Formats: sequence, structure tokens, C-alpha cells
Amino acid sequence: MSDSTQPIIFFDMDGTLLDLAFDDLIWNTKLPERHAETHQCSLEQSHALLHDFYQQHKHTLSWYSSTYWTEKVGVDVLQLQRDFKDKIAPRTGCFELLKTLQQQGYRCWLLTNADCAGLKLKLENVDLSPYFEVMISSEEIGYSKEFVEFWQILQSKHFFDPNNACLIDDTAPVLKGAEKFGIQHLITITQPSSLRAPRHALELEFTAINDLTTLLPILEQIQNKDVDVKTA
Ligand SMILES: [Mg+2]
Repeated sequence: MSDSTQPIIFFDMDGTLLDLAFDDLIWNTKLPERHAETHQCSLEQSHALLHDFYQQHKHTLSWYSSTYWTEKVGVDVLQLQRDFKDKIAPRTGCFELLKTLQQQGYRCWLLTNADCAGLKLKLENVDLSPYFEVMISSEEIGYSKEFVEFWQILQSKHFFDPNNACLIDDTAPVLKGAEKFGIQHLITITQPSSLRAPRHALELEFTAINDLTTLLPILEQIQNKDVDVKTA
């Protein structure tokens, strides 16, 4: 049963619903390997070159574009991802959370900086689609989620009330962009990639969860607070 006090929930994909280990593998290991093979250079040279590219383009739309990377580094990065698609995996509690939210009538949107091709590839391998009313790639919006414009354009296409919205995203600059726009509830992830050590919750600027089902009591709290404010 849906309830009007229920916040709308925006989920990031990579590092939030899906294990970022896949993307780490592709970008930090497999792409340098294939780049070195393709261009007949050393692995060290490929790592150094790609590292420079990553630094230049971080948080821009180009960073998230497989077309851009394919042109820039001369490796078909979409094909590279397809070659390792078996490694695409959900994070702990992903489906349990999504099923529960669906049963409880929450409206959920998937908002990703992955480009349309990347989103499609992930959805073909992990069946997230049945749980989302809206699924958007920032490529369609023209700005990445780090920018307030992303949220403005999103809202003009699909109306929502930022005062009753909750975003779960593993990337701090994205949460800050959303905060600037006025998204009320912001939550991050302690361990986006199972291949890396968890971050310390106390060092993160936003409320942090790891097992995704931990979101459920937080949502209850949010709604109880809203009721308190309204009846106070
Ligand atoms: Mg992410």
C-alpha cells in the first residue's frame, strides 16, 4: 500500500545497487591491459596515460561515456565490459530492499551517470527494471548528477518534490549536487566496491549504510519525523 508521506526514493546504480568491483576491474585492470595490447606499449605506460585521462575527466559527462572512451583510448570499452559481464553483481541486500520497497508501495527511480549503453548492459545482466518507475541515464539529461542542472532538468521531465525525496548514492560530489538542489534526505554507502576496504562512516559527510536493507529503518524514521513535524 502506498502512503502519501512516503518519500520518493532515488537510487544510484554502480557502487550503490551494484558492486563497483566490476567497474574497478574494467577501468583499473582490464582497460589498461587491453590498451597496452592494442597500442603495443608497456602496462605501466597504459596505467600512466589512463590515470591522466581519468583525472582530467572525472565527474564530467565524458567520463561516463563509453563512446568517448572508445575514441579517446582506441579500445572498445563497451565490448570490454561485455567480455566480463559475468562479474556484474548486485550489492548486499539489493533485491531484498527493492522487493520490500515495492511491496510497501514506495516509488523508486534509478538515476545513473552510466551512459545509455552502459545502463542497458547492466540491466541485461542484473534485472533491476521491475522495481523502477523511472530509469534515467545522465546522458539523456545532458548533465551528470554532480550538477544542479541535472536535478532541474530531471524535475522538469518527471515531477517530484525534493522536500520528500531521498537519494542513495556512493559518490559525495553527486550527493552535494543533489543537496544544492534541495533533495531532503541524502544517504551514502560505506563500501561501494567489495574489492576495496570500507570507508569509515564517521569520516563520511552523509548518513552511511552498507547492507542496503538498513535503509528500511531509516525510511521509517524519516516518515515518523515528518509526522511529528506535521502534528506538532
Ligand atoms: Mg555510484
